[in-house]
Amino acid sequence: MEKTPRKYIRWIRYGVQLWFLLFCVYIGYRFFQFVLHFEKPGVPFVERPPSVEGFLPIAGFMSFKYFLFTGIIEPIHPAAMILFTAIVAVSLLLKKGFCGWICPIGTVSQYLWMAGQRIFGRNFRIRKEIDIPLRALKYVLMGFFVVLIGIAMAPHMMVLFFITDYYKIVDVRTMKFFTEMSTTTMVVLIALVGLSLLYKNFWCRYLCPYGALLGLVSFLSPVKIKRNPDKCIHCHSCTKNCPSLIDVEQMETVNSPECFSCLTCISHCPSKGALDLSLRLPRLRRIVKPLAYPVALLLILYLIVGTGMLTGHWKSQLPYSEYKRLLGSDQKVTHP
Ligand code: SF4
Ligand code: SF4
Repeated sequence: MEKTPRKYIRWIRYGVQLWFLLFCVYIGYRFFQFVLHFEKPGVPFVERPPSVEGFLPIAGFMSFKYFLFTGIIEPIHPAAMILFTAIVAVSLLLKKGFCGWICPIGTVSQYLWMAGQRIFGRNFRIRKEIDIPLRALKYVLMGFFVVLIGIAMAPHMMVLFFITDYYKIVDVRTMKFFTEMSTTTMVVLIALVGLSLLYKNFWCRYLCPYGALLGLVSFLSPVKIKRNPDKCIHCHSCTKNCPSLIDVEQMETVNSPECFSCLTCISHCPSKGALDLSLRLPRLRRIVKPLAYPVALLLILYLIVGTGMLTGHWKSQLPYSEYKRLLGSDQKVTHP
């Protein structure tokens, strides 16, 4: 039986993923209670958890651009911008680690393909001729948002959007997309769940525009997975276990936008020094211990979030009276 001395890193990742997934469930529930307070008389008030704005990446991108042009952080959904900045910064410095370690959708996708592996005995692979154009889909979706927000939308147009009632409760509308699902949404979700059972990370690999953006940003990262051909014993373990279907064994440096730094390949490698995480800066080249990766990832994330909190750019400035006006029991808020 092969020895995998760095198996521990896999379990640490599973733990980090589970922590963030449970955290998202918790804040989702708190946010639901917050909305219910305005919609149903007698429901006690709970504080709105600002982290729900992590589910507003388009608002985050918009505010990010607005900040770059004006130096002002939009005060209605400031956490959306802080989280967007943190996630892009993590990708820039540490590859696409957000997708592999933190994103709850990535975690659920992983649970689904793992379940599929148990149910069907394996996961399936889409033929190369179809896989490549399908992978391009997420870049098309990303391109749409980049053109719409990054190029076409001028900052003065954004201000007009920020003051609309639609934008003020865009978080509530996003929630209703799932809590008051239309038949079409339900059919699409069921199809996605089915496809995710069969194919590894179907959503992330083919459809997620956020992941597409982070994958492109991650090219600039100084951290890379490196294979040392002199130490490699060609056991195929890395390639066989890579959830992004990357042929690690044939590469010296993994330079794929599909790599989400899960470190699964490293955790399966039985040969010391054959596969490592390497840091490459102009005057610094060194092997990084796998354990340092999640530590750095969480440090960067919490440092940026903490800065947002300490500078007063975390909680929404939308007053209670505005929520009451927009969500009060006489209003009917629907999803987008
Ligand atoms: S190459 Fe390694 S780190 Fe990247 S996705 Fe595959 S297993 Fe994960
Ligand atoms: S890099 Fe490690 S896991 Fe991959 S083939 Fe070589 S020895 Fe096996």
